[in-house]
Amino acid sequence: MQKRSFFGWAKPQIFYELLPDNPLEPKKIFPSATIKLFHKKADARNVSGGIQIGDPVHTGQKLSLFANPHDYVIATATGTITAIAPYAGDFGQNYTAITVDIGASEALDDQFAKLIEKPALETALNFLSHAPGKPPLQLFSDPAKPIHTIIICGLDGDLGIDTNQYILKFKLEAVKRGIQILKDMTGVDNLIIATAGETLQGYGHLGARVKNIDPIYPAALPHMMMQSILGQVVPVGQRFEDLGVAFFKAEAVASLAAAFDTGQIPVTKTLTFVKKDGHKRLIETKIGTPIGEIIAAFGEQIKEEDRVILGGPMTGAAIYALDHPVQPDTDAIMVLDRDRAAYVSDYPCINCGECVRACPARMPVNMLVRFLEAGHYEEAADSYDLYSCIGCGLCSFVCVSKIPIFQYIRLAQYELDRVKTAEAMNV
Ligand code: SF4
Ligand code: SF4
Repeated sequence: MQKRSFFGWAKPQIFYELLPDNPLEPKKIFPSATIKLFHKKADARNVSGGIQIGDPVHTGQKLSLFANPHDYVIATATGTITAIAPYAGDFGQNYTAITVDIGASEALDDQFAKLIEKPALETALNFLSHAPGKPPLQLFSDPAKPIHTIIICGLDGDLGIDTNQYILKFKLEAVKRGIQILKDMTGVDNLIIATAGETLQGYGHLGARVKNIDPIYPAALPHMMMQSILGQVVPVGQRFEDLGVAFFKAEAVASLAAAFDTGQIPVTKTLTFVKKDGHKRLIETKIGTPIGEIIAAFGEQIKEEDRVILGGPMTGAAIYALDHPVQPDTDAIMVLDRDRAAYVSDYPCINCGECVRACPARMPVNMLVRFLEAGHYEEAADSYDLYSCIGCGLCSFVCVSKIPIFQYIRLAQYELDRVKTAEAMNV
């Protein structure tokens, strides 16, 4: 809910919506014929005798195209691999997509079950990096960058998403057990649950401190929580792990518990589906389910120029193919009618300064946008703080000329990173 006009002197105040005490049970939607799993991009240089088309797979089976045991995906259904092909995902991400035709009956893989007696970080790294919530376990594998604090996100970063609030509220025992497993595996003792307002009650004895964050957007974005919870500003060019901090979604913590307590790698994702009319509903679906099937299950029709967005209204990214699958970190799917989608115009910047006032990173956005529109990305980075952006999207939201500033920023960062990677590979 927006509290004040964006066009006055004050910064915008948009409130996170807190989950009601008795939300509807998540609607269960399962894939009918195929699942698609996104594996790290493979090419002739790095493929080495992994899975092949025609191979049978069991639910929970580790599938890999590479020899490296940390590069894999987990089969979320039982069936046969029918395709392994390049796939262009959202925002220029390239993957190798593994398609599995679902068989008539389900068989569970037992490789992981043999290793669960004592939860170990190596076991988790080898099997659980693609569990629901996508636990960032790789952050603990660099001895040069020890992690000393884990922040568990019980409030989703973007607006209108109920996913991690739901997990924290209704799968609290699993979160509690996951906290203990995380402590045992990593040796990190400083765990903090970030939650908001009324969801705070009754969370004693969880093995983690509970911090109440202000339910005003963008307070639940990691950069903001670094400041409000730990009193630290992340220097430009550094990541949270450089400062010894790891962020886990509540669902990722619950997934660790589900895996080690049952011996089965969880394959079902909770997410928030937002319909064209703005109504939302939590759902449970398998990772790999084509998003088109979820949309169809709600009877929504996609017309030309409608938008399907992964994530929330401020930071989500549009996808262009309905066979795009649900991924371990897909927390929301929004369908926007073309008539309600934000109107993007060709109006120039009028230098009104609204974006500068709204920016929590205090960036000179009005200057930055001139360089971004002209494609001068290096100047934008060198002189106008491109990498100070915390990715909140407020500048685009308030811009009176409807300039897609945040999208320009993401594109510029993506392009500069791509060039840097290409240069590094040619050295
Ligand atoms: S997206 Fe970046 S530039 Fe825009 S308001 Fe947020 S922090 Fe500032
Ligand atoms: S980019 Fe938009 S919000 Fe920022 S100064 Fe220009 S017109 Fe105003």
